[in-house]
Amino acid sequence: MNESKNFLKSQVQEDLEANKYQKIITRFPPEPNGFPHIGHAKSIFINFGIARDFNGYCNLRMDDTNPSKEDTKYVEALKDAVEWLGYEWYGDVRFTSDYFPKLYEYAIELIKMGKAYVDSLTEDEIREYRGSVTEPGKRSKYAERSVEENLDLFERMKKGEFVEGEHVLRAKIDMSAANMKMRDPLLYRIKNAHHFRTGDEWAIYPMYDFAHCLSDYIEGVTHSICTLEFENNRDIYDWVLDTLKLEPPRPYQHEFARLNINYTVMSKRKLLELVEGGYVNGWDDPRLPTIAGYRRKGYTPESILTFCDQIGVAKSNSVVDVSQLEFCIRDDLNTKVPRVLCVLDPLKVTIVNYEGEEEIDAPYYPHDVPKEGSRKLPFSREIYIDRADFEENPPKGYYRLTPTQPVRLRHGYIIECKEVLKDAAGNIVEIKAEYYPNSKSGEDTSGIKVKSAIQWVSALSAKEVEVRVYDRLFACEAPQGVEDINPNSLVVKKALIEPAVITQKPDVRFQFEREGYFYADPIDYTDETPVFNKIVSLKDSWGKKKRNSREKTKQQEKKVQIDGEVTPMTPEQEKLFERYTKELQLNTEVANTLARDSFLASFYEEALNELNSAVNLANIITNEVAREIKAQNSTELHFTPKQIAQLIAMVDEELISNKIAKQVFEEMAKTGADPKQIVEDKGLIQISDPAQIKPIIDEVIAANPQNVEKFKGGNKKLLGFFVGQVLKATGGKANPKMVNELVAQKLA
Ligand code: ATP
Ligand code: MG
Repeated sequence: MNESKNFLKSQVQEDLEANKYQKIITRFPPEPNGFPHIGHAKSIFINFGIARDFNGYCNLRMDDTNPSKEDTKYVEALKDAVEWLGYEWYGDVRFTSDYFPKLYEYAIELIKMGKAYVDSLTEDEIREYRGSVTEPGKRSKYAERSVEENLDLFERMKKGEFVEGEHVLRAKIDMSAANMKMRDPLLYRIKNAHHFRTGDEWAIYPMYDFAHCLSDYIEGVTHSICTLEFENNRDIYDWVLDTLKLEPPRPYQHEFARLNINYTVMSKRKLLELVEGGYVNGWDDPRLPTIAGYRRKGYTPESILTFCDQIGVAKSNSVVDVSQLEFCIRDDLNTKVPRVLCVLDPLKVTIVNYEGEEEIDAPYYPHDVPKEGSRKLPFSREIYIDRADFEENPPKGYYRLTPTQPVRLRHGYIIECKEVLKDAAGNIVEIKAEYYPNSKSGEDTSGIKVKSAIQWVSALSAKEVEVRVYDRLFACEAPQGVEDINPNSLVVKKALIEPAVITQKPDVRFQFEREGYFYADPIDYTDETPVFNKIVSLKDSWGKKKRNSREKTKQQEKKVQIDGEVTPMTPEQEKLFERYTKELQLNTEVANTLARDSFLASFYEEALNELNSAVNLANIITNEVAREIKAQNSTELHFTPKQIAQLIAMVDEELISNKIAKQVFEEMAKTGADPKQIVEDKGLIQISDPAQIKPIIDEVIAANPQNVEKFKGGNKKLLGFFVGQVLKATGGKANPKMVNELVAQKLA
């Protein structure tokens, strides 16, 4: 496991070779405000994995600085998750709250150095004073307070003499810093909440940016690995540690891309909503992407670790296809678990020419699984097969039992349908069949050709079991929340299973032949009422449907028909589809969306009349416009096709970037204002003047000497970093192409 090389490991290797550290120490620092999810598994895999690979340690630290949302039950869930994945943290579980006294001392030190002050502006004023990406902020008048006054106020904040929001402690850095985070960030705030560990001892709580770097330092962490959204916080991380002039070695922060998976919501806040709203049955509901959920569903730790390894560590965010995770568990179980017979939707079959009872020897594992073991399958006159395995009027290509087509009972005999019995409503209730005595599996001399073998159980000995058939919780690729829930994500069935599964218990995970992989529910299962959870299907049926309906392109929020087969296009829709793909060169996915939606199609045609920009118009209409219609639940929009054309015209003329166009679109959707007006009012015109861009590039370069050195030393990937920083500093307004060229020139 954990074999692939990645930039984080290279960094650690480099630091060891440079003798920067003697021992590698990482940490996994969750906030105990929810159950960990598969994204956390990735972080666990990376942090504990690096420690293991380099003979170091990894600490488990609860980042418990927000008393109102945290709880010990989440601490336990986090510990369980790490252990279940097979890792061991170093020493005791740590808590940021253990460091509160130490952090307080560090804050006092900063105050004494004149590097921190108590501010008494309101929250709104603080926001206002911060300025914007294009305007510098201005400093609060309270920044002039004397060290004595600051010390006094800070102590009284701690003692609880003030109400929430009355004062905060801020770092004194730079109110016109290009990185907005550096404009005198907050270090402490007053909070009158009960903390689950420190009780009412503290009336002030440190902010993430202050607590995290110092907790890392206190623990001797060397590599503080976090997700990309903290990239801009790195400057504060460095500022705090450097300003305090701490004894080396100090930790450094490194960022990687967080894991996103389609058909899945990942934030703890959204998961909490699902749990508290009763949309699922608790944090370990097998439909949730929590580690407890996967575990309860029957996933193995190995499959999750393999998945984390396969997806790799990247520097830019992307969405991973959930079928990749499903592939990992299928692949793992395939070589491990016994194959057994279970009938999920029983239909009675009476074999009229069979008398008595017999037991058929059947191996648990196929030839290619290196495991031994077999059981006896009882066979008798009355059996059950799955309803779906009989068709009175079979479609073409149906290989199972029909009135004219025999089928093999898996491990057993070939049977043939003789009569179909129905109830008054016309439902099939029983089949009368005959078997061929000389057709037994392994000793078949009947010469009869069958096209498939189906699962079955004997009526006399089968056990009734509950089977929980889980499907994806969300029916769309980019779910927003409860409104996108798949109503069929759980179907509970009364199924019939062969007796050995219950009496011999050869394993807890099984392949129910032709149905999928299943797991004996670790909580609700008893011998009297066995319960099995569906882990995963045998085949990637979702992937197949998707591929059939359209070509696979970028993961985007799209209208994809996912339940049932895709309806064929009408001749008019086909014609549009042709026009869009052939004539206008749209990709098939966009063309498919437009052609199938008459409103979007006519909106598109009108916009095209205004502006000859087929691809860009199609993209905004199938994405932003379609999403707005969905959000409004109405086609009464605040904007017209003509205005969308005006917006895209500005993009085409490079007056604004794509990113700004999205921002303008939001405004149009809200207010109905003209795009040109919005761009003018907000000063969003793209900056394409080198004279304006160059000074910003200079600033970014001056602020990142280490990276400049690395770049010059050969790490050419850092070009993207510099371009990103410059774009960010201009609020996304600089022309990206130009920035790229100018940065490359400058660093050459
Ligand atoms: P959420 O937004 O889901 O609540 P979080 O980032 O607030 O997640 P924390 O408990 O603060 O969750 O995270 C603990 C660690 O796990 C952090 O280092 C964080 O960067 C990492 N982490 C969280 N979500 C993901 C993810 N989707 N992919 C990779 N790492 C993640
Ligand atoms: Mg969080």
